[in-house]
Amino acid sequence: ATPTSIMAGSGRAAELGILFKGGEHLESAHRLTTVVLDKTGTITHGKPVLTNVKLENRWDAGELLSWIGAAERHSEHPLAEAIVEGIKERGIALPAASHFEAIPGHGVRATVEGHELLVGTRKLMTEEGVDASALLADMTGLEEAGRTAMLVAVDGRLAGLLAVADTIRETSREAVARLKAMGIEVVMITGDNERTARAIAKEAGVDRVLAEVLPEGKAAEVKKLQQSGAIVAMVGDGINDAPALATADVGIAIGGGTDVAIEAADVTLMRGDLNGIADAILMSRKTMANIK
Ligand code: ADP
Ligand code: MG
Repeated sequence: ATPTSIMAGSGRAAELGILFKGGEHLESAHRLTTVVLDKTGTITHGKPVLTNVKLENRWDAGELLSWIGAAERHSEHPLAEAIVEGIKERGIALPAASHFEAIPGHGVRATVEGHELLVGTRKLMTEEGVDASALLADMTGLEEAGRTAMLVAVDGRLAGLLAVADTIRETSREAVARLKAMGIEVVMITGDNERTARAIAKEAGVDRVLAEVLPEGKAAEVKKLQQSGAIVAMVGDGINDAPALATADVGIAIGGGTDVAIEAADVTLMRGDLNGIADAILMSRKTMANIK
């Protein structure tokens, strides 16, 4: 492409809120065969809300919720924020945690008022030797409805179940349909569990799902797609997504996402609307077609 056509293309893209970091990305976008979309904060708003609380009556509900809030207050995860907000809204004050540990892709561990709290996935409970069987049917039901459910254990014993709901962006379904109509394969990637992931993917019209991918695994999944011959765009908003954004042929960050993601990406969608992906590819196709 000539410098002039690249400049013109970049300018038109910028008017749509699509910022290319360099002309080379505008050139490469027309070759994309596959678009990988992060779930939380990319397909969805990433602002989950606490919707379900089910606690074993072994504990005083207010006290147990205060411990959970005390543990999650130290986590930077959007799920943690939803849990803390939901607990505070119930008028519960949060005590201090004396120990806190984030377990990436799995949950949190904390010590609060002398009790060891665990909040997170089934796998976390299994690894910590907690028998979660009493709440697994409830958990599965919530996941089939597209909610993210998390188990709670106190001192090594199952104590409850929490669920949060995160809604898909109004524009995600249309954006996915446009990509598919352009002959591009769309894949969703998430650390969340398979059932929740499938429910959200179905709402968004995405057919292929990579779920329960650990934070460090996203880049490896992108590499695998590339090795099978795909030219891949990765679209994400989180710190977790940064290595995958850097690995992809074109990394696309969501404006309003974390700075780390924006820095790792080649393109930023300022409007938080996934339609920008199809627009960017069309812009690239036009720019490259102009070059004779
Ligand atoms: P995503 O890719 O959707 O952002 P993560 O890889 O960060 O997901 O997390 C995967 C799963 O680990 C979450 O769906 C949740 O079940 C659990 N998890 C992560 N962080 C927390 C937390 N602070 N509290 C409870 N559970 C958590
Ligand atoms: Mg995300």
